Amino acid sequence: MLRLLMIIVGTLLSTTVNSAVILQYHHVSNDTPASTSISPEMFAAHMAYVEELGYEVVPLSELVVSLRNGNAIADDVVAITFDDGYADNMAAIKSEIVPRDWPFTIFVPPLLIDQRLHGYMSWDELNELKRLGGELSNHSWEHNHLAAKLPNESDEAWLTRFREDLLKAEARIEEMTGESNRILAYPYGEFSPQMLEVLSEEGFAAVGQQSGAVGELSELGHLPRFPFGGPYGTVEDFHTKVRTLAMPVESVVLKNKGEVLTSHILEYGSAWPQAHLTLQEGSGVDISGINCFASGLGVQAVTSDGEHSFSVLADGALQVGRSRYNCTAGSNQRHRFYWFSVPVVQLSAEGSWVD
Ligand SMILES: [Zn+2]
Repeated sequence: MLRLLMIIVGTLLSTTVNSAVILQYHHVSNDTPASTSISPEMFAAHMAYVEELGYEVVPLSELVVSLRNGNAIADDVVAITFDDGYADNMAAIKSEIVPRDWPFTIFVPPLLIDQRLHGYMSWDELNELKRLGGELSNHSWEHNHLAAKLPNESDEAWLTRFREDLLKAEARIEEMTGESNRILAYPYGEFSPQMLEVLSEEGFAAVGQQSGAVGELSELGHLPRFPFGGPYGTVEDFHTKVRTLAMPVESVVLKNKGEVLTSHILEYGSAWPQAHLTLQEGSGVDISGINCFASGLGVQAVTSDGEHSFSVLADGALQVGRSRYNCTAGSNQRHRFYWFSVPVVQLSAEGSWVD
């Protein structure tokens, strides 16, 4: 009987995939724009909770290597990342991360560091953080909208420009710090499918700003992260997100009125596309328990398309700029949810990108 029980429990547990969560911060300060800031007190609470959970904090590069080599990723793993190289990160890292001997990653746009802009760290400060256990990675040369084509620019010219930007930034970071781990954080979390080929050809991985946990099916060209700042990052919100499980999504197809879209970047006036997600067979995720939210619209109806796939179509207008479908499902672990996010971008009426 006990043996049978153990087999049943074993089967239940095996349906939960190993998951890693990448945390994303910008400012850690009370004096910076609220939407991209979290207070030093709240940041301290986040780090204390990671410690309390006993999760392992790993360098992002290590997680990328595991995924690239097809190795199993350890469960209950966290990577901590900061975007832009803001000066206020220094105090937060020194008070909350260094004493715990944890690794962390800072994504820097080299031109903005070279320009010694107010509010940004210097190369000397970044090197100091490197000595304290930090990794320095690529946040593009000057923090542009990388997926945006110039007026009348061909796809080929745009992708060449993207490749040059990527490599120039990587070379400058290496020149100034000796670091080159070939991981890009997309400015504003924006990417388009054609950019993934360039990244792969150049041996790069990349992280976005679409939320969710990293699992073995996550794509190296757009790994999810949970951004904290503005309304996101309260104690309750953090407790949920840091324990998230990777929803084992095998494919995502976006459709507009039945027609398959080749990009999630949409012209002005586009409607929300319908998202079709297919989960890995035998993943153990119960389709009937899936909840999907659309940015600004709340919970949306989910249609089951079979045992392993489902669709969601938002019932309101798509806003200009970045939006998401966030889909979650309960798991057999208490307080832990599967999470997957599908990003969508709608350009403005002038065809421009929103910061
Ligand atoms: Zn940034």
